[in-house]
Amino acid sequence: SAGRVVVVGGGFGGAACARALKRADAKLQVTLIEPNKTYVCCPFSNEVIAGLREIEAQQFGYDKLAAGGISIVTQAAAGIDTQTRGVTTGDGTTFGYDRLVLSPGIDFHLEALPGYDEAASETIPHAWKAGAQTLLLRQQLEAMEDGGTVAIAIPANPSRCPPAPYERASLIAHYLTSRKPRSKVLILDAKDAFSQQRLFEKAWKELYGDMIERVALSQGGRVTSVDPTTRTIVTEFGNYTPDVANVIPPQRAGRIAGVAGVADATGWCPIDPVTFESKLVPNVHVVGDACLGGGIPKSASAASAQGKACASAIVNLLTGRAPDTPRLTGVCYNVVAPGYGFSLAGHYQPRGDIFAEVEGGTSPVDAPRELRAREATEAERWFETITADTFG
Ligand code: FAD
Repeated sequence: SAGRVVVVGGGFGGAACARALKRADAKLQVTLIEPNKTYVCCPFSNEVIAGLREIEAQQFGYDKLAAGGISIVTQAAAGIDTQTRGVTTGDGTTFGYDRLVLSPGIDFHLEALPGYDEAASETIPHAWKAGAQTLLLRQQLEAMEDGGTVAIAIPANPSRCPPAPYERASLIAHYLTSRKPRSKVLILDAKDAFSQQRLFEKAWKELYGDMIERVALSQGGRVTSVDPTTRTIVTEFGNYTPDVANVIPPQRAGRIAGVAGVADATGWCPIDPVTFESKLVPNVHVVGDACLGGGIPKSASAASAQGKACASAIVNLLTGRAPDTPRLTGVCYNVVAPGYGFSLAGHYQPRGDIFAEVEGGTSPVDAPRELRAREATEAERWFETITADTFG
């Protein structure tokens, strides 16, 4: 046979991989297993929370992938037999593979946060998977009275999109400044330093005065438990009962990675960065947030670049050719107010078992407002380009 590849997860990593496989070799049988008919994307979902954008702008379907010859299976993968090489979906169907790609994104490491679970997320939203959670946090902000406190609890790294919690704090402050100016944003942080910190802190001072207060790890900012019935957040420093509580729990690879046996004790999946093949199970590749990428931040850009590089490696492996060494490019924009953006960009290459940054940097800290405005426009263009490339 020409080769059967099953891809689990139709987000930025999985959809990009499925498409690149089919484009590289039209004879490949490519099956994409994803439980949702509509993907709701996280980039720009902070704008939805702040009332600057509607959720519909975040939604994408799989019709174009199907039209390109990819079989779309609207089911969750429930079991994986890596001996007989088959993926079984929730309805009991089994799909055999020569190579399997997992791009399941993240799940929450709930043992690390007592009190927090799916039921708790109904009162204390995480909004770290876009969709109903995004809208719930927005509704809570809308219902809050002026003078209230919005707390955002941020986990340690590795986690999905390290700068996005600070972007969220910024856009919530933007919303409050115009609607409820006596309110506060309180960041409870399990880190001391964070991505693009100087850029964020400069923007906060310029745009929001002292509306945003941050309690860092060394000041006791790490959240140790929550009580959803009283909306209490317990930190190493003390207890907080904010009017709106947004707790982003610690994370690990999506649950199915554990089922397949490709996640290690860290909760993430070690890979060979040249092929994305699991270090633990042969013929299974892991891309996107779920893999242990080292220096490459977990982002949609990275997941997409990894998905494509993995597709190229699989095509080479199936035809007995040596895989090329990937050079991945990732760019991550932060929009902290309408017309005010900055970014982090990098090139990454395999070094040992991980990716190392070979080149990169952030926007300059001291830059005219025109550059911030231009980067906000570029961010929108980036969103249009990556979503068209993945789903359009
Ligand atoms: P996902 O996109 O989460 O896709 C995983 C898919 O797998 C899901 O569709 C899920 O339904 C499916 N799945 C899970 N389990 C199974 C199963 N058992 N069977 C079948 N399917 C399954 N990144 C950027 O580059 N730029 C940004 O500006 C940016 N902003 C962000 C803002 C926020 C608030 C957040 C939370 C994230 C942001 N990100 C951004 C990060 C980006 O969303 C993720 O890094 C990216 O989605 C990772 O892609 P993925 O394919 O690994 O996972």
